[in-house]
Parts: sequence; structure tokens; C-alpha cells
Amino acid sequence: MTTLVSTIPQIRDALRATFRSGLTRPIAWRQHQLYQIARMAQNERELICDALKKDLGKPKTEVLMNEIGSTIDIAVKSAQRLPEWAKTEHPEVADWQKPWKPTIYKAPRGTVLIISPWNYPMILTFQPLIGAIAAGCTAVLKPSELVPTFSQLLEELVPKYLDPNVCRVVNGAVPETSKLLELQWDHIFYTGNGRVARIVASAAAKHLTPLSLELGGKSPVIIDSAYDIDLAAKRILWGKCNNAGQICVAPDYILIQRDKQDELVKAFQKHYNAFFPDGALDSSLFGSIVSDLHHKRLTSLLSRTKGEIVLQGRADAARRRLEPTIVKDVTDGDSLLEEEIFGPILPIVPVDSLDQAIDFVNARSHPLVLYAFSDNESMKQRLVSETQSGGIVFNDTFQYLAVSELPFAGVGESGYGYQFMKYTYDTFTQLRSSIDMPKDVEQHLAIRYPPHSEEAVKA
Ligand code: NAD
Repeated sequence: MTTLVSTIPQIRDALRATFRSGLTRPIAWRQHQLYQIARMAQNERELICDALKKDLGKPKTEVLMNEIGSTIDIAVKSAQRLPEWAKTEHPEVADWQKPWKPTIYKAPRGTVLIISPWNYPMILTFQPLIGAIAAGCTAVLKPSELVPTFSQLLEELVPKYLDPNVCRVVNGAVPETSKLLELQWDHIFYTGNGRVARIVASAAAKHLTPLSLELGGKSPVIIDSAYDIDLAAKRILWGKCNNAGQICVAPDYILIQRDKQDELVKAFQKHYNAFFPDGALDSSLFGSIVSDLHHKRLTSLLSRTKGEIVLQGRADAARRRLEPTIVKDVTDGDSLLEEEIFGPILPIVPVDSLDQAIDFVNARSHPLVLYAFSDNESMKQRLVSETQSGGIVFNDTFQYLAVSELPFAGVGESGYGYQFMKYTYDTFTQLRSSIDMPKDVEQHLAIRYPPHSEEAVKA
């Protein structure tokens, strides 16, 4: 149900009052809330799978692995590691400063706002929430209006499992989000597109609110001609088919040596037939496009391409279905290279050398991730040192997200602010520096007090 705009300031104030009450400070209390998130994901998995089937046609195995399983994994591991993360630290200092007891306290930032998108609505809501609760914050969750069944379910489940004084769900669209953004928060964590990110960033600037922007972009794949093309095709196609390509780290386009392009196309055709022997159109293992607007956007991109469609995906606008579609001989300026595709369309851009591939990537905004398939260590090192991207993955696609100990973030247009496990905890934690000056060091401090003797100034 849409939250009444007039109640939004009261919701923020109530969460702020809870934060000030100190309820969220004990580590054991935070751990309990984190285990409650894991319990919710486990107990309510059927309802969650049904909601995501309804909103996104998401295959159950994808929901169990990428939304429910990941939420449980991150919640449990964060609860277990929290005592270590939250330890007060004493930095190494020079001997003469040791009596001052330099200390770093880990302080929760306060009351935070988490705005999440529709494509992985569960993990992209809980991943930041787990870090916020681990840090001792209170939080408002603003899920996406494009997945109404899931967002409604979230509103029902959160108060059943989490302390309602600590976490609240605000449902709605632009008016509700705009109201939230008028208010002062202690951190805003936004996941979504760059256009809205600019609205969020300017609202945050008014209050000098710290911000995390988890955005997207066009993540390229560079394939070395010496690599096993068949294996590369299989792994890339898997990375592109998940959630029908609606994933921020989906391979967006491929750069490959011109004379290897047709071998790659053949390998894609072979693996497509193996993944979906009856096609993906009616397969329960392949998701739908989230909205009519996005379906239209994708078919329009395809209708304007100057490339050659070599794997023709069927489209069914009424059911928002679009099969994987592969387009070869795509060149700079093509419709498929204009914007993040965010759907099951994969353009192949033939190049004549690695230098040309690197130049192609560097001529565009920094992507969220750069994928490269190669066994050649010096090529890998060139890519590490001559390109910029949020992450760089060799010889697979988004499987790297399974390593939740790695920091995840964009760079430039793909966003900023690290997340995953301790990195999310750190995002919602202020490092509060302290010293405690003993009385008996007064003689060592004498030099700082005026009037300063000439000898002291010279020394
Ligand atoms: P979306 O349309 O659901 O928008 C995201 C959030 O912004 C929603 O909660 C929505 O209510 C809010 N919003 C929309 N319009 C607004 C406005 N005018 N003012 C204030 N808030 C508004 O999702 P989306 O942006 O289409 O999501 C897809 C994008 O997110 C892609 O670009 C993708 O790459 C990116 N993404 C990034 C990550 C990451 O972790 N880096 C993860 C997933 C998706």
C-alpha cells in the first residue's frame, strides 16, 4: 500500500528517536536482528518466490540462489563477524603519544534511507539493510514501485521479523521518494540509474548527507582470440540470461578480434539451444521484462541497430517476453551502444587489436565491471593498469558477486561507495577518533603554551 506522504516525516522522527534511545547499540541486539532477516528469508521463501514470479517472471532457482540464498548468507556471516568489525581500535603511534590513548570508536551513522531498484528487489534492499543494522543504524526502506507485489510483501514481512521501531518500509513512487529526499538523513544508500542518482545527490547535498550511489552502465567483455571461444560463449550467455539481462553487471557488449566473431556466434547458438531447447519465450527458466516501457525500449533499440541480428530472439509484448538476441558487426554510434541495454540483447563489436579494444572501453564512461576472457597474464595486467572500472573479472561473468568478501562499487558514472559485508558495515559506520590526555604529560606539552620562548620556536 502506498505510504501517506504526510506520515513520512513522523516515520523518520520515530526512527531517529529509537536511534537516540540507544536500543541499537548492543552488539547482541544487532546480531539478533540480522538472524531475524535470515529467518525471514528462510521461512517466507515461497511467498517471496511467488511475488518475484508475478512481478518479474523470475525463475524460482534464480530467486533461491540470487535473492534468498544470498540474503541468508550475508545476514548470517555479518552476524558472526560483527563482534570483530565493531571492535574499538587503537592505532600504532609513536611511543611519546601512547599515553594519550589514541582510540577509534565505531559509531553508527544514525537514521538512514535505503532506496532500492526493481531488478533484484530483495538482495538489493537487504544487502544495505544488513550493513546498516550491523552498524547500529535505524533505517527506512524504499523499495521500487515497479515490483508492487514484492514491495507490498516487504511491507508486511519487515515488521513481523524486525523491530518496527528500527526499520520501516515506505512504499510509493516519485511523490513518496521526493518527500523522503526532502528530509535530513545520516546516510542515503541509493541503487538504481544515473538519472535518478543525480536527483538523489542534489537532495543529499542540501543537507550535506553522505551518500552511496550504486549505479550501472555498459559493462564490456573483451575476448582474447587465443581463449577457448566455446567456453567464453557459454559463460557470457549465462551471465546475460540471468533475470533476462536485467542486472547491473550483465555483460553489455563484446569486443572480439574480427576473424573470431563468427566462431563466437556459432558457439552462442549452440549454447542457447542447450540452455533453452524449446526457446526461451515460454521457458520458466527465463525471466520477463519488468514493464511495457522497458520492453518497448529494448525492441526499439533492436529496430534501430545497423548490426546484423544473428540470433533472432522472439518478442511478445503482451507478456513482456524477449528472447536472447545476438547482434554482430555492431559499430560505434549504433543504437545498441547508446545506453545500458539492461535486457537480453548482446551486441558484438569486432576489433582489430587489443589496443583498439582498450581504446574503445576508455572512450566511454567507466563501467561497473570489465570482463575479459584470456589466459595471457600480460594481457590481464595491461587491462588492470590501462582501464578503469568498478571491478575487473577474468574468465567468467558475474559469478564474482558470490565472493561477498570483495568490495563492490562503481567508479565515475557507475557510482561510488563500497558495499558487501564489512564494506557495507563500514559505509554505515563513522570512525570516531579520540584521545584521552593524562594529567601527568603536562611537562611534555609545556612548549605549546604562550608566551613561546625564542628557544622553543627555533627548536
Ligand atoms: P527503479 O526505476 O526501480 O528506480 C530505483 C529507485 O529510484 C526506486 O526505488 C524508485 O522509486 C526511485 N525513483 C525513481 N524515480 C525517482 C525520482 N524521480 N525521484 C526519486 N526517486 C525515484 O530502478 P532503475 O533505476 O530502473 O534500476 C535499474 C538501474 O539500476 C540500472 O541502471 C542498473 O544498472 C542499476 N543497478 C545498479 C546496481 C548496483 O549495485 N550497482 C544494482 C542493480 C541495479
